[in-house]
Amino acid sequence: MARHLITSAIPYINGIKHLGNLVGSQLPADLYARYLRQRGHEVLFLCATDEHGTPAELAAAKAGKPVAEYCAEMHDVQARIADGFRLSFDHFGRSSSPQNHKLTQAFAGRLADQGLIREVTEEQVYSVADGRFLPDRYIEGTCPNCGFESARGDQCDNCTKQLDPTDLINPHSTISGSTELEVRETKHLYLRQSFLKDKLAAWIDSKTDWPILTTSIAKKWLNDGDGLQDRGITRDLDWGIPVKKGDQDWPGMEGKVFYVWFDAPIEYIACAQEWQDAGKGTDWERWWRTDKGADDVRYTQFMGKDNVPFHTLSFPATIMGTQEPWKLVDYIKSFNYLNYDGGQFSTSRGRGVFMDQALEILPPDYWRWWLLSHAPETSDAEFTWETFQQDVNKDLADVLGNFVSRITKFCRSKFGETVPAGGSYGPAEEQLISDLTTRLSAYEHHLDAIEVRKAAAELRAIWVLGNEYLQANAPWTTFKTDSETAAMQVRLALNLIRIYAVMSAPFIPDASVTMIAAMQTDDDSWPGDVAAALTALPAGHAFTVPENLFRKITDEERTDWAERFAGVRD
Ligand SMILES: [Zn+2]
Repeated sequence: MARHLITSAIPYINGIKHLGNLVGSQLPADLYARYLRQRGHEVLFLCATDEHGTPAELAAAKAGKPVAEYCAEMHDVQARIADGFRLSFDHFGRSSSPQNHKLTQAFAGRLADQGLIREVTEEQVYSVADGRFLPDRYIEGTCPNCGFESARGDQCDNCTKQLDPTDLINPHSTISGSTELEVRETKHLYLRQSFLKDKLAAWIDSKTDWPILTTSIAKKWLNDGDGLQDRGITRDLDWGIPVKKGDQDWPGMEGKVFYVWFDAPIEYIACAQEWQDAGKGTDWERWWRTDKGADDVRYTQFMGKDNVPFHTLSFPATIMGTQEPWKLVDYIKSFNYLNYDGGQFSTSRGRGVFMDQALEILPPDYWRWWLLSHAPETSDAEFTWETFQQDVNKDLADVLGNFVSRITKFCRSKFGETVPAGGSYGPAEEQLISDLTTRLSAYEHHLDAIEVRKAAAELRAIWVLGNEYLQANAPWTTFKTDSETAAMQVRLALNLIRIYAVMSAPFIPDASVTMIAAMQTDDDSWPGDVAAALTALPAGHAFTVPENLFRKITDEERTDWAERFAGVRD
């Protein structure tokens, strides 16, 4: 048995994520974690909310709340929604945790000791009335290019021109409205990533098994233009982790915080400490320190492609730079984008289905199945209501749901609610066992390789095998002339329900629980040997007929939802 550390990219705190975000990291990470646990591996699956930075401050201000209170509330909201989708995190932490404060400061101090931090003096806009430096998006004024009056300090939303705050005509603070702005000097810390370029390049070159999507993005950032640049790791903000050198003050950096990109990935590590401190586990360092037992851990990260540069370069630079034995990632599974019905998901225009809305209209398995079976692995994918309706109705209701319903009801009507005795296998059953064995092995192979769509296709094919068997052998017809053989066919099919429950659990955990409960067994062991697994429920074993596993989505619902989630068109 192996040990697997799994992290999903941590979602930003300011609002509820859409289905594209879900399928780009958390959901496939959950699929993999569930599968590995079922196979008997030791798994630590971590995720958290990413809580620092200007967008959190702005969102809190908009909500009229102190930022700490806003973040605490939104963390609870996101945690609840994650539960709703059955995301089986061992811990869902917070990048604002005391553990992450301490660890981030320790990393920065260690990097400074290694000569990997330099101080840079920059000019930045200071608001006298607000008593603070203003990030670019806290400054608005008239665009020098098009005359738009609400251009932001970094960009004009009207003509899209990239701007510096000093370009704006009549600039003012968006916090107080004050025009009393000055350009002042301020000092910031930079991580000397450029010093680590060769080490990072060699490390990425050694990852020959990584998806091309992952390595191509990393190499582009490493080599394009002037190559990997040093990056600022501090900000003049209130909300964040105070800049300290370990537990010591950092002269000249008083009142500053670490930049969110620096502390957010360190939360992957701090989250394991939070997990331990929450009483959910022990020895967190044996997951993260190779000198304390983590040398046999396989660490897999899941993320959307936009997050790849941070996870292939910036975070590894942070870790390598310390010269301490922290665990580096072994495999990065990255995803393209899921688009929504001919365009993109848009938070500002309310376009697309967001995680909370999805759960209001259908249970999680429907979404999990469709999203995972359409995971944007090799290219962008597209959600349409037509394909969603069609696939859910066919795969879940017609194939899996119908199989379970048909055989349990038939058995109840002819043999009662116990597994019937009698009969023995013929060529059809031997063939089925052989086909199931082949497909099960392919399914395991795809899940081990985190080939999500291929695994879904294989699972669907396995469900189809059961239906085809029933169709071809028709126990309801057999029963009329040969009740012994019909009993054997029914017994096999009832056992197949238990196997389906176990195998399908990573994709559709709720349906899996329902099937296992209906079969009145606590045997949820993986069907390593299909022939043996088909005898797990012996003759005489009692079961119940479950409620319909899945209902069909109607045309009317499809039309209503398409309209409801279309958003405000530009
Ligand atoms: Zn403009």
